[in-house]
Amino acid sequence: MSEFVKSFMGAVEARNPAEPEFLQAVREVVESLSLVLDKHPEYQSARILERIVEPERVIMFRVPWLDDRGQVHVNRGFRIEMNSAIGPYKGGLRFHPSVNLGILKFLAFEQVFKNSLTTLPMGGGKGGSDFDPKGKSDNEVMRFCQSFMTELQRHIGPNTDVPAGDIGVGGREIGFLFGQYKRVRNEFTGVLTGKALNWGGSLIRPEATGYGAVYFAAEMLGAKGDSLAGKSCLVSGSGNVAQYTIEKINELGGKALTLSDSGGMVHDPAGIDADKLAFVMDLKNVRRGRISEYVDKFKGSTYTAVDAALGYNPLWDIKADCAFPSATQNEINGKDAKNLIKNGVKLVSEGANMPTTPDGVDVYLAAKIMYGPGKAANAGGVAVSGLEMSQNSMRIGWSREEVDNRLKGIMKSIHTTCAQAAETYGTPGNLVNGANIAGFLKVANSMLDQGVV
Ligand code: NDP
Repeated sequence: MSEFVKSFMGAVEARNPAEPEFLQAVREVVESLSLVLDKHPEYQSARILERIVEPERVIMFRVPWLDDRGQVHVNRGFRIEMNSAIGPYKGGLRFHPSVNLGILKFLAFEQVFKNSLTTLPMGGGKGGSDFDPKGKSDNEVMRFCQSFMTELQRHIGPNTDVPAGDIGVGGREIGFLFGQYKRVRNEFTGVLTGKALNWGGSLIRPEATGYGAVYFAAEMLGAKGDSLAGKSCLVSGSGNVAQYTIEKINELGGKALTLSDSGGMVHDPAGIDADKLAFVMDLKNVRRGRISEYVDKFKGSTYTAVDAALGYNPLWDIKADCAFPSATQNEINGKDAKNLIKNGVKLVSEGANMPTTPDGVDVYLAAKIMYGPGKAANAGGVAVSGLEMSQNSMRIGWSREEVDNRLKGIMKSIHTTCAQAAETYGTPGNLVNGANIAGFLKVANSMLDQGVV
């Protein structure tokens, strides 16, 4: 580790103890940026790095709500407004019991660089709550969302901060949140993205993250004269990102073999075709059931329950060509990454945010496989959120084809930008460095222009 990274990280660790995911995300970026800072002393003298790791604002609030039996519950709500140098804060809301300040700071930090890569004018933010929507009735989820928005509404707005969905926040939750914002503020605006089509949503927004991760994979393969046709693919998760990743893999002629949720994983050697995917979408989005039900329906598939004592995830220990982690952070550790390489995987495109631990990333880089880090590969979601904001401002709606073409164009441009930055700074093919450097430069230069704020 260079002296600079060591001393910078020492200071960040001292200021942010007990936030391991945030420190992990910062370290990865700072390691890449050490290639840039030597050439650009102006960033050091303006203390750009010291400022970029410090959120512009952190909002933390109480969210009290009543369950169906009339009992009172109290959750914690957050919004991290990380950086607004290039546009209003933009980033999702996560509802999951694991949510805490450090996890949201890591996500907000990643979002700054990701949004910069999309070519659209969006700053970075992230928020959410430790509320667990699993097992709650629709009415309970509605009451929670209303209470959450009753406080959040005073901090956000279409030109200030525009949240979207993430884990545990899909179309249902965005609807309840939007309804409460409109009621309290008496204002119909594009304050959230991921809205339904009838009330200001964009075509392709639900599909965008998954489709984008597959388009990014296609770009990496295309640069080597290859394509997804005939490739077998491992996919984790079974939520929004996983579902549309599988849909696009199928469309481009690949074959998805796996799915998972927090209970366990499904392996279907025959492939998860359109009919099976329709079953998964109904199971997860309508019936809100567990992925283990898949094997009762489709013969030849197997279910393996999570076994924390194992130390690795069997989902990543299956012979395949490509992997699309689409569940959560740190779901691929060093052992999993070695298993992927051992099983012939030549490409990893991250739909989830920071799904690979640092030792896992080292394994990919040493094996020189095609590796699209989350902040580049999953930027399609926020890119189409940006397009939803544009459509809301213009009060028009683009066709499916128009939005999909723009999404494809943006993913292509992100790939090219990252590949060029990696090359310029002396690490050709390393898209981790490419994404961190290219994402940083636009934000850093904007911060220089705007003075010490
Ligand atoms: P969903 O809530 O729709 O689905 C999440 C999936 O991951 C579920 O199958 C869930 O299983 C599983 N999962 C969540 N937490 C864990 C955990 N701790 N251990 C094991 N499995 C887990 O979320 P999304 O599909 O929207 O998000 C998935 C990933 O993609 C996240 O990393 C998110 O930050 C990232 N992302 C999402 C974007 C979006 O547009 N939605 C944009 C960019 C990135 P279970 O139901 O059992 O919890």
